[in-house]
Amino acid sequence: MKFIADGMLGKLARWLRLAGYNVKYVGDLQVPAREQDEVLLSQAQAENYILLTCDIDLHRRAKRAGVKSTFIQSNDVVEQLAEVSKRCGRRIRIRPENSRCPMCNGLLELASKSDVESEVPATVLKIQREFWRCSSCGKIYWKGSHWKTIVEMAARYNRMLR
Ligand SMILES: [Zn+2]
Repeated sequence: MKFIADGMLGKLARWLRLAGYNVKYVGDLQVPAREQDEVLLSQAQAENYILLTCDIDLHRRAKRAGVKSTFIQSNDVVEQLAEVSKRCGRRIRIRPENSRCPMCNGLLELASKSDVESEVPATVLKIQREFWRCSSCGKIYWKGSHWKTIVEMAARYNRMLR
């Protein structure tokens, strides 16, 4: 299951990548705003992406064109995740082992401490045991201070679906 997200849904795209989904975000594609709808529709059609959009007109156009599309109503990213998972019938789980790079959609690979020591602040190196590197853009991830936010949001998501 792979998604292509409209220009308003960058945050949702990053969260779905964190949860391991393959998500193309039109905001990453350097497309002028007025051409984005066409690009979303043609790429979704050509490569069988599920379109995620908060634009009801685009959603309807997609449906007419036979493109799978999910209309996102909420402005809140956790509620948006719930909308996607209800629509797809799957619970979204966030585990770094399965994550993709939130910035570029590349696959993350476990990296050893010695692999990353020249690129990570010493204080981080001292505390953290596990590191992941994006196989595409090279960015290094660890369960830093933002990890707490991720865990809290995942908990809110789980409560929402109960
Ligand atoms: Zn990356």
